[in-house]
Amino acid sequence: MQKRPCWLEIDTHALEENFQLLTRLAAPHAELMAIVKANAYGHSLALCGPAVVRAGAQWLGVTSVEEAVEARSYCPKPRILAIGSAFPGQGDAVVEHRITPVVWEQVQLDELEQAAQRAGSAPGSLAVHLEIDTGMSRQGVTPEAMTELLARFTPSSPLKLEGVMTHLFAADEADGLVTAAQIERLHQALSRITAAGLLPDWLSVGSSAALVAGNAALLAETAASHGMRLMLRPGLALYGVTPCFDPAFEGEEPATLVAARNGLKPVLAWKSRVMMDVRQIPAGAVIGYNGTFVATEPMRVALIAAGYADGLDRHLGNHFSLLVRGQRAPLVGRVSMDHTVVDVTEIPGVLAGDEVVILGTQGAEQITAQDHANTTGTIPWEVFTRIGMRVERVEV
Ligand SMILES: *Cc1c(COP(=O)(O)O)cnc(C)c1O
Repeated sequence: MQKRPCWLEIDTHALEENFQLLTRLAAPHAELMAIVKANAYGHSLALCGPAVVRAGAQWLGVTSVEEAVEARSYCPKPRILAIGSAFPGQGDAVVEHRITPVVWEQVQLDELEQAAQRAGSAPGSLAVHLEIDTGMSRQGVTPEAMTELLARFTPSSPLKLEGVMTHLFAADEADGLVTAAQIERLHQALSRITAAGLLPDWLSVGSSAALVAGNAALLAETAASHGMRLMLRPGLALYGVTPCFDPAFEGEEPATLVAARNGLKPVLAWKSRVMMDVRQIPAGAVIGYNGTFVATEPMRVALIAAGYADGLDRHLGNHFSLLVRGQRAPLVGRVSMDHTVVDVTEIPGVLAGDEVVILGTQGAEQITAQDHANTTGTIPWEVFTRIGMRVERVEV
């Protein structure tokens, strides 16, 4: 059956090239974990998981055990990290699907240990990554409170401390002051871990911003000074969006940032179509809920099959344009749940069925996730992840 025309085109070749570019930018300092949580930032885990694996990813990062199980169904080989840990009752799935959970609380270790014992797992056979809270106060154990957790990794435990991770929460601040303080806290934690006789393989620190800011060398030094290898965890950059830095870099930008901005390619395009023949409306007509737009002269308007239930933010109404026939067509009136109206008075020849670009390029014009975010007061991550599940994802 023909579907309602509101879809995403997912360029998996661009994704593969982005992964490879980021791998080069991180080399030789770090291996990359491809972050594909939240349905690959709305881009479709089913399409993007296998694509990053084709590009060479040996690690995938997702939020939950559910997401990890789904990722495993598409990607039999790579390691899969569940960043949000395992909830009570999820231990058996972790073991069955060879998922690597992040841990920072005793109850998480209890759940995993019991599941591993039920499965008859050998000592040290279930790898976990320990999250350290180095200042974000979100998840993770503080360096001061680690002793009891570390004591759980005995030689007879089925659990193995394979990695240590932390999240840099201000790597997009180019002055690097917060990050420096976090690395200092991390050193304390790592010293305690090695003093406890544990030797994890991986230090997993830093997302897209840290990578493109060129922090890999410094972080790799931190890792090496405790006998570990560095892993970086880019998400947003994989999908072709270079993070913005605020405050910006003083003087010259890092070469990695310039290379990312010049080289990363957008993976997603969001499209719809003009639903009906263009409608002529007279001066004085109002458009949409509550008549927030009033025509001051005769206009030609087109109905588009996309609304806020598709993830088109309601705040865009009267403040944004979509692309029709390579030109900008302003959204007039409020965005409805399933529909939007655009002004095509200045665009000749618009017909029912014409392709409309909500996010992406058409002719010489481009609309980015950052453009959406700037208009609605959010960030590209939220623009991507709010695109509705009913919007079909098509590989191109
Ligand atoms: C989402 C996430 C990332 C990826 O962040 P980006 O800014 O999208 O690169 C990395 N690490 C953790 C722990 C995350 O939750």
